[in-house]
Amino acid sequence: VIEVSTISKAFGGLRALENCSLNIQAGSITGLIGPNGSGKTTLFNAITGYERIDSGDIRFQGKSIAQSKPEQIFKLGIGRTFQLTRIFPKLTVLENMHVAVQRQGKGNMFSSWSAAHERRKALELLDFVGITKHKDLLAGNLSYGQRKLLEFAFILIADPKIILLDEPAGGVNPTMILYLADRIRELHQQGLTFLIVEHNMEFVMNLCQQVAVMHQGNIIAQGTGAEVRSNPAVLDAYLGGGLE
Ligand code: ATP
Repeated sequence: VIEVSTISKAFGGLRALENCSLNIQAGSITGLIGPNGSGKTTLFNAITGYERIDSGDIRFQGKSIAQSKPEQIFKLGIGRTFQLTRIFPKLTVLENMHVAVQRQGKGNMFSSWSAAHERRKALELLDFVGITKHKDLLAGNLSYGQRKLLEFAFILIADPKIILLDEPAGGVNPTMILYLADRIRELHQQGLTFLIVEHNMEFVMNLCQQVAVMHQGNIIAQGTGAEVRSNPAVLDAYLGGGLE
């Protein structure tokens, strides 16, 4: 569903992505791992329009999105979270969900939503991620893990086809990590595709059918968790980049 073909991106002399290619199959959960600085977030930014690539192409459902802006890509059905959550701390949880709907703009299915329908949808999703009881709390007063869940609901209201999660388990307590993994599995069963950057190996190995390993701006290995784990190049990459 997403084809990344030989993309490169340099920041000054630093080559963050170098002829990087990756295919994401529809309906898969793919984990993206790699040492710090290997280019994972830059790849996410390239796919979601936050970083313009220098060369190569990125296609979504067969059409190039390499020149598209973040809002356009979001509307096409690619949702993402950020390492540092991008919610609105001065708005309540429910108001944040309203912003998510507003962001979709007019001229699509959201313009026909009544206030009551929107509220119902928002509450349904807050319930799904397990933070309904905090609906009237200022988002800035949520715990870090709860903010991540809100950001997840924020994306889901736009009815995405594929979701990119940037370190969903980072800084989140173990119970919430298990809870989040269950939610992802449930959405996956409903047909959603996931690409997940994550340093928590247990989370990746338990959840992802496919694991891609990045090193120095490139995918150096791809396969099942077991295949990737036994690949000597992967161990070299981690040892070279410093063990985490
Ligand atoms: P981490 O696991 O630490 O989040 P990562 O694999 O996501 O790392 P990136 O954040 O994509 O790696 O960074 C790849 C390289 O590009 C790094 O050397 C980083 O310092 C550099 N880089 C990323 N974004 C920028 C930027 N906007 N300007 C300059 N250099 C950047």
